[in-house]
Amino acid sequence: MAQSGTTSVIAEIRALEKRKAELLEAAKAEALKQAQDAIANLAEIGFLYRLIEDSGGPARPAASPSAPKRRAGEGPCPICGFKTDPPHDGRAHRGQSPKAPFKPEELSERGLSKLG
Ligand SMILES: [Zn+2]
Repeated sequence: MAQSGTTSVIAEIRALEKRKAELLEAAKAEALKQAQDAIANLAEIGFLYRLIEDSGGPARPAASPSAPKRRAGEGPCPICGFKTDPPHDGRAHRGQSPKAPFKPEELSERGLSKLG
């Protein structure tokens, strides 16, 4: 080959990618035609189906009612970094701006005592 080097390699890769896209499109069209024929055959014998294209994207996990929920008391407050009695969590810090660990006087205002 007279011409070699990065430029020709990139050109070759581009050509291959174009070819791949064409092949994929052709394969998809062929498979789609087969699927449509199969659906048409099913319809003829009384079974109605529809072909639906999945647009992709990550599958969304269905919200499970049994999913464990974090409850106050299962660990230290994510903001304070320590446990209290009775336990509290980040929700107790709503209205704080900026969010900061409770100071001793804030703990006593809320009737909390620091543990650990
Ligand atoms: Zn806290």
